[in-house]
Amino acid sequence: MANDNKLANIIAHCKEYGFVFQSSEIYDGLSAVYDYGQNGAELKRNIRDYWWKSMTQMHDNIVGIDAAIFMHPTVWKASGHVDNFSDPMIDNKDSKKRYRVDHLIEAFVETIDKEKGDEILQQMEQLLAANDFDGLKAMIDANKMKCSISGTCNWTEVRQFNLMFSTEIGSVAEEANVIYLRPETAQGIFVNFLNVQKTGRMKIPFGIAQTGKAFRNEIVARGFIFRMREFEQMEMQFFVKPGTQKEWYDYWKETRMKWHLSLGISADKYRFHDHVKLAHYADMACDIEYDFPMGFKEVEGVHSRTDFDLKQHQQFSGKKLTYFDTDINQHYTPYVIETSIGLDRTVMMILSEAYEEEDLSTADKQDSRTVLRFPPMLAPIKLAVLPLTKKDGLPEIARDLIAQCKPHFKCFYEEKDTIGKRYRRQDALGTPFCVTIDHQTKEDNMVTIRYRDSMLQERVPMEQIKNMVLEKIKMF
Ligand code: ATP
Repeated sequence: MANDNKLANIIAHCKEYGFVFQSSEIYDGLSAVYDYGQNGAELKRNIRDYWWKSMTQMHDNIVGIDAAIFMHPTVWKASGHVDNFSDPMIDNKDSKKRYRVDHLIEAFVETIDKEKGDEILQQMEQLLAANDFDGLKAMIDANKMKCSISGTCNWTEVRQFNLMFSTEIGSVAEEANVIYLRPETAQGIFVNFLNVQKTGRMKIPFGIAQTGKAFRNEIVARGFIFRMREFEQMEMQFFVKPGTQKEWYDYWKETRMKWHLSLGISADKYRFHDHVKLAHYADMACDIEYDFPMGFKEVEGVHSRTDFDLKQHQQFSGKKLTYFDTDINQHYTPYVIETSIGLDRTVMMILSEAYEEEDLSTADKQDSRTVLRFPPMLAPIKLAVLPLTKKDGLPEIARDLIAQCKPHFKCFYEEKDTIGKRYRRQDALGTPFCVTIDHQTKEDNMVTIRYRDSMLQERVPMEQIKNMVLEKIKMF
């Protein structure tokens, strides 16, 4: 399957099976904003839970918080977002279409030969690192890069464009104050650093984790839920003694990669991309990239943020944000290693990995199925219980089994259609286990369990089903 087709097919599948819908679809949608349907919401919640537990439950020195989206406006001045959170942009004068300069150049590079393309990308990284806008413009002109809409090379100058959304807080106009929708969750952690450290009696090194919505007015929002204007992040800030940041940076790079591999995704689908252009707060940074249907792209960032954020908040708030290290009897401002992963991008990664159109044809019969091979712990529905017929007491037995299992995991009941059709529907939803109740069950309490991936079936005692499924969906 060509990768373009694969992405289009995943998008269509997500809509058809209640995973992802365009926001406000009946009003023709809102660009780069999406809603999760009944199955997408479960999938997303399971991924979030897995991340949360991996970070907090499995590390005794990491705790989780839930900070508000709205923050004091000075937070964003201190963090540098008011002055620096912008992307170089260029407009095509004929189509009026606005491009992020790096996206325009990357799209151009895909149309030319690899050697020349790599040279251009390297040059682009250097120009971006130097904020050399004239150089970027000259590069776009020299290579005659065209607008995909107008087909012309009639460009404006390159300019910066701030990505933060703003709104007003206050009940009456005179009190109104401009505030921002947070563009990252990290700042909620920095401003609570001392609250958590003191109340939790935390000793360095320790981490604070958080999941939550973030908002960015992305100029070029494309790639389905890869790049959205409203999205969710899962971030962890790890506070360390100054001078030890390199060791912790390496530790978190490795630990996060292990987490990715624990999703059952093979190592060749991932790569690290070290940043040449470092953000204003970082002394080391890399992306973990996954091979999406549209190529290798960032799914997570690991950043060594130095003591920049805590120092800035100290300066702007006038409050001390230092730590007293009893091991060395010294106060210092901790350094921070951050791991920052997009939940929606992870959903898209899991969907891309799981989606398969499988040819099941035999010599005498053409057949195929679409299956989502989710890791069982992440599947929206863990167990479907299917009575062979709607009568003879079989639905009652099925309902009894569901009653036993549903306090432990998400079950689904269906009695319509042939068993074959019902299995295919569960394959398309990614349900790892189906149990069929038939007339024999009434005699011997045995049921047929059918496995999504192998499509194999076996007869097992009904009373074993709950524990069999629990065993297979364990996170740790
Ligand atoms: P990109 O270069 O793709 O714009 P970024 O480097 O700006 O991403 P970070 O600021 O490091 O991203 O954010 C951390 C993570 O948040 C990213 O790795 C990504 O998974 C997620 N993320 C960032 N922007 C978006 C977005 N617009 N939509 C969905 N997820 C996003």
